[in-house]
Amino acid sequence: MRKSLRNSGTDSGKKGKKMAECLFCRIVSKKVPAKIIYDDERILAFEDINPQAPVHALVIPKKHISTTLDIEDEDNELIGLLFQTAGKIAKEKGIAERGFRLVVNTNQEAGQTVYHVHIHILGGRHMHWPPG
Ligand code: 5GP
Ligand code: ZN
Repeated sequence: MRKSLRNSGTDSGKKGKKMAECLFCRIVSKKVPAKIIYDDERILAFEDINPQAPVHALVIPKKHISTTLDIEDEDNELIGLLFQTAGKIAKEKGIAERGFRLVVNTNQEAGQTVYHVHIHILGGRHMHWPPG
């Protein structure tokens, strides 16, 4: 898909505003507190404030990317690292062997409420399929 189709003028304006106010960017800059479980140059992970399973953590890029639809070519390595880090956290949390679920919601109908890309790590209980 061509970049010009993805980033219309009005959308990029909205994006700029969202970045300044974005909740997860505020967690990255430590303006909003969170129970941080992983922190490196490019990635942050923290406990979800409203856990849906015994283990429920969120892994985010420190760079603001609103949704999976906004991932650019230059972000591909970062997104790979994000999934690798999610796996490492699952191992550390002791849920890797029995199984866990990684969820990335995109836009309203999927239930995305925070417009900064994040992977949910869910585990410690049996996961249902299909998901609700
Ligand atoms: P989404 O619905 O966008 O896929 O996931 C957003 C997640 O962020 C939700 O699971 C929600 O509980 C979590 N969340 C929302 N606000 C906060 C917050 O201030 N701190 C933390 N740690 N998690 C939050
Ligand atoms: Zn953000």
